[in-house]
Amino acid sequence: MELKPLGLRCGLPVPPISIGTARLPHDREAAAILIRAALDAGMRLIDSSRTYDDSELKVALALKNGYRERAVVSAKWSPWAVKVDPDDLPTASCARKRLEEQLHRLQVDYVDLYMIWLINIPEHYHSATAPGGLLEGILRAQDEGLVRHIGFSSHDTPQNICAYMRKSDWCEVVMVSYNLINHHNACVLRQAQELGIGTLVMNPVGGGKFAQPSRVLNALVRKTGVSSAAELAIRYIMNNPNADSMLSGIAKHADIDDGVRCVECGPLDVEQMRFMHDMLDSIDEKARHFCTACGYCMPCPQGVDIPGVMACLERQLFWDLSDSARKKYRMLRGNDAAKCIGCGSCLSKCTQHLPVPDEMRAACRIFGN
Ligand code: SF4
Ligand code: SF4
Repeated sequence: MELKPLGLRCGLPVPPISIGTARLPHDREAAAILIRAALDAGMRLIDSSRTYDDSELKVALALKNGYRERAVVSAKWSPWAVKVDPDDLPTASCARKRLEEQLHRLQVDYVDLYMIWLINIPEHYHSATAPGGLLEGILRAQDEGLVRHIGFSSHDTPQNICAYMRKSDWCEVVMVSYNLINHHNACVLRQAQELGIGTLVMNPVGGGKFAQPSRVLNALVRKTGVSSAAELAIRYIMNNPNADSMLSGIAKHADIDDGVRCVECGPLDVEQMRFMHDMLDSIDEKARHFCTACGYCMPCPQGVDIPGVMACLERQLFWDLSDSARKKYRMLRGNDAAKCIGCGSCLSKCTQHLPVPDEMRAACRIFGN
């Protein structure tokens, strides 16, 4: 696979597809064999994490016998993403403690990339970058050679992520979600490239939801002549020159073979992209008048997660991703549309002037009470 620099600031050469470790097999030996197979197939960057089962220990096993030198090892942590100890804080000393532990678990002398994990709200950014905060500890570790490059991941709004990047001359890499059905972060990828920040794409195949039946995706697959929605999703991302590499969770050998095969097919051609844009534009047109997840309607006095319910409706109505929409709806864990009593207090707050109580009733009809 062709390599390209992970942004000007970082510059590490990476192929378009990298190794996600969230779905590795439970068995440590089997997981290590799989990681090595991915490295042998040309992947380089391994995105490890303190959680994901004991993925760091699996990565450590895979990196033995000369594989460390072939890999770009990325680690990440923040107390918002996972508290290893209940008293973990976003401080320099805590960052140092967690980093030393990660180096020990990964059995490496340094990590190539360290990501502040999930800066999801401005308060996270401010506490991470405040004097004595996480960043200070990581920068000190960088001076000592324990960390080569630094970045952050985020599910915040594109506007906020862009603002964080503009203020962060320390940031060399950013990791955000971006895929076929959620391309709001295209502007983040563009600005990152302008600033010389490398870009890693999470959820390139929507966390597996593109494998589910969908009339909309099936029509796109048919029209573009590709083999699957997953291929479409991977090659669609390759059409964006601002996406340096995408993280593909590997659970079995076929995931590696399929990922590499799709990447080797290259970006979609002009005709295929024309089909894509026609379809995406018509969906975007409908979505433009739908919920933007801005959250201004919250809190609902009855505890309804209004943006969460709306996201389920969007998945169902615009993408025909029934299974995925229902699964997401169940994950609202009771804060769903059934709690809505139609009080209407959200109506005047909705920035899109949506009939929220009607949408809640529609959600009850579609997903049940
Ligand atoms: S109308 Fe329903 S969703 Fe809106 S604030 Fe009232 S209870 Fe909550
Ligand atoms: S205010 Fe309207 S657009 Fe914003 S999250 Fe609530 S329902 Fe969606």
